[in-house]
Amino acid sequence: MTTVETGSRVIVYALGGTIAMSSTLSGGVAPALSAHDLLAAVPGLAESGVTVEVQDFRRVPGASLTLSDISALATAISERLTDVDGAVITQGTDTIEEAAYLLDLLHAGPQPIIVTGAMRAPTLAGADGPANILAAILTAASPHARNQGVLVVFGDEIHAARRVRKTHTTSPATFQSPNGGPLGYLVEGRPRLLNRLTHRTVVPAEPADSIRVAVVPVALGDDGTTVRLLGDHVDGLVLAGFGAGHVPSDLVPALETLCARVPVVLSSRTGGGSVLAATYGFPGSERDLLARGLISAGYLDPYKARILLLTLLATGCDHSTIATAFGAAGGIADPGTWPWPTDFSQGN
Ligand code: ASP
Repeated sequence: MTTVETGSRVIVYALGGTIAMSSTLSGGVAPALSAHDLLAAVPGLAESGVTVEVQDFRRVPGASLTLSDISALATAISERLTDVDGAVITQGTDTIEEAAYLLDLLHAGPQPIIVTGAMRAPTLAGADGPANILAAILTAASPHARNQGVLVVFGDEIHAARRVRKTHTTSPATFQSPNGGPLGYLVEGRPRLLNRLTHRTVVPAEPADSIRVAVVPVALGDDGTTVRLLGDHVDGLVLAGFGAGHVPSDLVPALETLCARVPVVLSSRTGGGSVLAATYGFPGSERDLLARGLISAGYLDPYKARILLLTLLATGCDHSTIATAFGAAGGIADPGTWPWPTDFSQGN
């Protein structure tokens, strides 16, 4: 059934989320199950040939995970990766797209780190947690998943952390990669990567609690009040603009003022595609905003752009390095321009 090598070792970190929830006396479900409980419910795991170790790391809903939790997890994993083949994280799906990307920016090793969860709690018919955990463990143990950074495995699909988004409130097929699609699939328990990432982007710093980056969605008739009010309270701002990176002309002066003080990143609120650079010429267009000093997020969605900006600010690097990093990580410049290149070829 599997492609894993006999004797593969995987460590599973449980952080809570729907996958670990059970009914509460006051109604609804809340995180309650341990990592051990989660694995005990996975059919086929014992026959997989993978030796699995478990760690209860946090037991919270995805919404209550913090940047510090994820940084601490990255450190804990890196301390164990010399004696395991890969790691799996189970957590709330609400924040998987951000947590996975932060882990990806902090993970320099060749070992696969796989994030998964569930959309249906163990109390529901058709709970998807056990299948997702098994698929995640098999991917973490697979030599084919090495050197791809952090992956999200869900519904037998394998997604790159930098591209994956939660796109539906309830569907078990909620995780999608609008830019490029999944990297691969699990078929009969075998992870198959049809596309491989050609570069990694590792940042030599983790976000600091003292650094604040806001995501501001642009909306019809926005006159810049929100940006002006926030301006003095942030170290950076990610704008989720209309379409290919547009804002109302009334918002432009506030952005130009803010840009002179902190990095302002221009992303799109559409959920797919790249911010443009050279098409529209009206006030508030992408050409206008980039000429005024905003930084393009490229293909990164607003939430991933925020995670990247938080980590870049933590390095203390200057504005031009931040812009260069966004070009490479956003997929709109040569990946070789990434400011902290690492040779991953030795890790295979
Ligand atoms: N619906 C979420 C989940 O799938 C709740 C959470 O993120 O904790 O886990």
